[in-house]
Amino acid sequence: AVQIVGARKSFGDKQVLKGIDLTIEPGTVTAILGPSGSGKSTLLRAVNHLEKLDGGYVVVDGELIGVHLVGNRLKELHEKQILRQRARIGFVFQNFNLFPHLTVLENVTEAPVSTGLLPKAAARERALELLAQVGLSDKADAFPRHLSGGQQQRVAIARALALDPQLILFDEPTSALDPELVGEVLAVIRRLAETGRTLVVVTHEVGFAREVADHVVFLDAGVVVEEGTPDDVLGNPQHARTRDFLSRVL
Ligand code: ATP
Ligand code: MG
Repeated sequence: AVQIVGARKSFGDKQVLKGIDLTIEPGTVTAILGPSGSGKSTLLRAVNHLEKLDGGYVVVDGELIGVHLVGNRLKELHEKQILRQRARIGFVFQNFNLFPHLTVLENVTEAPVSTGLLPKAAARERALELLAQVGLSDKADAFPRHLSGGQQQRVAIARALALDPQLILFDEPTSALDPELVGEVLAVIRRLAETGRTLVVVTHEVGFAREVADHVVFLDAGVVVEEGTPDDVLGNPQHARTRDFLSRVL
């Protein structure tokens, strides 16, 4: 499970997260929706300590992320321990963030080899399996620039799976894609949802959230305005801000 407790974050004098409490149950899919600038990416990035909180904390499977208790204060962990924690949490970015100078296969084998999780041959075998799962067996030796956006994002998902994380965070995984490429990426995420992993997906795809998510969270101006089942939050929103947002994206 993921517990986010009292998460606060400011950039300069702009308060971006204003005390967020959120619990994500293991094996569930959580969709996070909200207007641009509401703090969705900042919150997601805080879960694997890509963003340091000013207040509050995140616990994943019982372990504090990025910090540890010294006396009664939270102190940042050493870089090495942060990297170890991050390796157990998959992250898929809006803009794919593939290594441009590496082939598709090398992108997927990089993490397991460099972390020492798998020897090269085993990492390669695993990568080929993952590429098959995302429908890209034939692209193993291609470079990212020769792929469509949808294909690049599917490689990014295969790469995130290479360390076999039980928790995967997606930050608007389809919003950089041409509309006709969105479906192929959502289909991959939908299949992943059936593998028992915990997925957290920041998305504007309301239809996808409705179909795939177990839990929907609506964020606005750094606070959780409402959360619940897709039927509740998307079908019968209680707050004007949620209704207003949905009327604009639907
Ligand atoms: P979008 O839907 O556009 O991706 P978001 O909900 O993900 O928006 P965030 O990226 O979390 O929003 O940003 C929340 C606010 O924090 C915005 O006003 C943004 O400009 C600001 N912000 C985010 N990162 C930084 C940073 N590194 N330095 C300064 N301000 C930042
Ligand atoms: Mg964002």
